Amino acid sequence: MIRKLPSTILLQDTLDRRLAGKVNVRSHHYDVCPQGCQLFQKNDEETLNCSSCNETRYANLTTRRPSRQMKMMSVGDRIASVLANDRFRELMKYRHNYQFEENVYKDYFDGQEYQSLKADTRFFSSEDDVAMALFFDEFQPGKAATGDKLSIIHLVNLNFPPEYRFQNEYMIQLAILPGPNTPKDLDFFLQPIVDEFRDLSNHGLVIRRNGDVVCKSKVNLVIATGDIPAAASLAHHSGHMSTNGCRLCRIVTKRVNSRTCYLDTTASLREKADFTTGSSDFEKGINIEPLLTSLPTFTHPTFFALEELHLIGQGIAKHVYDLLTVSMKKTYNKAIALKYAPTDKELEEENITSANDWPFSFKISKYKLIEIGNFIELSRPTVPTTFSSKWENPIEQSRGNRGVVAITQWNNFLLSEIRQKRIQPGVLKPVQHYLTHVPMMIEKQGILKAYSGRSMERTTGRYKKLIKSKVNAGANAGNVLERFAVYGHVNSSNINLRETLNLLEPKQRTNNDFVPLDENDNTAPELWSPLFQCSVSSLPCGVSDRQFISALQRNYMRVYSVPYEPVNISSGVVNGAGRAWFNDIVYTSAFFKDHINERRRGNNYVMFTASHLNHHNNLTSQLYVGSITFFFETTFKSLRDFLVLIDVAESHGVVDYERLMPKVILRRPGQHKYVVCRFGDIICNVGLLRYTMAENHYKVISHHIFTELLDLKMGNARNL
Ligand SMILES: [Zn+2]
Ligand SMILES: [Zn+2]
Repeated sequence: MIRKLPSTILLQDTLDRRLAGKVNVRSHHYDVCPQGCQLFQKNDEETLNCSSCNETRYANLTTRRPSRQMKMMSVGDRIASVLANDRFRELMKYRHNYQFEENVYKDYFDGQEYQSLKADTRFFSSEDDVAMALFFDEFQPGKAATGDKLSIIHLVNLNFPPEYRFQNEYMIQLAILPGPNTPKDLDFFLQPIVDEFRDLSNHGLVIRRNGDVVCKSKVNLVIATGDIPAAASLAHHSGHMSTNGCRLCRIVTKRVNSRTCYLDTTASLREKADFTTGSSDFEKGINIEPLLTSLPTFTHPTFFALEELHLIGQGIAKHVYDLLTVSMKKTYNKAIALKYAPTDKELEEENITSANDWPFSFKISKYKLIEIGNFIELSRPTVPTTFSSKWENPIEQSRGNRGVVAITQWNNFLLSEIRQKRIQPGVLKPVQHYLTHVPMMIEKQGILKAYSGRSMERTTGRYKKLIKSKVNAGANAGNVLERFAVYGHVNSSNINLRETLNLLEPKQRTNNDFVPLDENDNTAPELWSPLFQCSVSSLPCGVSDRQFISALQRNYMRVYSVPYEPVNISSGVVNGAGRAWFNDIVYTSAFFKDHINERRRGNNYVMFTASHLNHHNNLTSQLYVGSITFFFETTFKSLRDFLVLIDVAESHGVVDYERLMPKVILRRPGQHKYVVCRFGDIICNVGLLRYTMAENHYKVISHHIFTELLDLKMGNARNL
């Protein structure tokens, strides 16, 4: 026996589903490889196997039931919901109103790339046109050793002023790649997103409210990045361990002591063609043309921008720390050491007896270390770790700190130290090399802070906390994603959340919200909000007074076997309700569904029992199925009661091969037969499942266990 869940509390899932249904922000489902390697495009039903691990796409090939699916949000839907909000749209005019000053870099909009996109009238000609940055990152919700590897696709809306754009409310998550494998080719997953962005750049979207155009807006993706490996996936770059180890220049790295070293400081910069037309030497290191280059806004390799957090925020600081803390005494692993390891011959030439005494650029006396420590302490307030500082005049704000100029000096210094054999060439590692591109990046795309990946790190942190399922973290993540999207939409679209939710939540027990049949009997039924009062001639759900009174008369005839007498419904007034509670179950109705704008069929179907006199004049009780229209109060022979108005199915029977499984044929739309029953007559909530190709034929599914064969128990609605 299946225990009935007391349904007096709405479960989170139910709430989410109903909210999602109401606000129309729904995720799209895509088939994915069970191992997470690839996504199958919607317009391609014929790819049957994962191109990388060969697992099957469909669990059932005949019915095309997919092995696994993931959820993805639509960029257009999400941006539309942001643009439809007057406050957000006003804030987003920041881009349009941005004051550009020659040689001043305060935001993304100072960069040459934006300036040239703006000069091309296709992209940023309307004040409502939008610039977006995309971030991609891997994360693990569980333990590093065991957890699935998930990846997030995250958007930052650059139109919002910097002090807004990194707040949760203003950012958008499009997808969480479900893992457990890392995607073999990210473009499979990016395809739906890139297709949409291309369309949004070329044609834009139009926001209407009540038929009037609120705004027309082109939505342009201008940056796609992440940490070094993530940006490599986006750019189809061979990665930082490879010979062509930089996605921005044509450096050829050298392997020294099995480390990839970036010794060349004169390599030429890459151009757009390195990513798009590959046959010359220049495209080396770009494996195949990345999908993102198909966007009209892809005009330069700096589209795959440098991301401040992983570069300066974490990479370099750790690097400098490593340099300062190289062990002087212990024998060390040449492969990872930064300190130069002299050969015996070199030691002899320099007349040095122990390798420990070989000069090291960062060998610093204790006294000096204390001094350095004090300097670090002093410089602490200028370290850009938070976004709390003002955005105007960053150089002045950071007390004249001009880090950009020093990068070249620092690199030249390291190079000369390598030549003098004091440090290993490995010191010039990828983060160190990418630093040299920071000035170019600022020139092209504005300051790094304007499109920092810190926001994404914070977001993945938020997701990690919410992804509770250890078994199927990927699917769980998809649900969390959708939930955020729905709540984000509710927040942004002026929906009165309180009002919306109040309809969905069980009501507080005040007199306005529910009416008990008998206050002293807590097993008696209760009518629950939304409550209504109307005259018999204007009943909800299109029920006519004739239908209603006839159903009521037939009920009394069946229950009391008395002929019709004028039914007392408080002088023609009906007190009704959209929901009711009885026996620990909350029943809903068509009236309730209309009230919350739910258009799907379902969850107000019940099976009930009713008795009638058969042609031998014996009282016989049979089973019926119908959907509850609403609940109401009556008084009959001075007895107050709550009754249920049900729209009963056209015919009842059992499934041919299973006499314990009822089936029904529903009436065609617009056709109704109303029946009134008492709460005690309801047997259970049921679900309907279509079971033949014939229209309106349904199997009746319930938790109720029937112990007798049903073929003689299913009723004929004509008897009611
Ligand atoms: Zn696969
Ligand atoms: Zn480079």
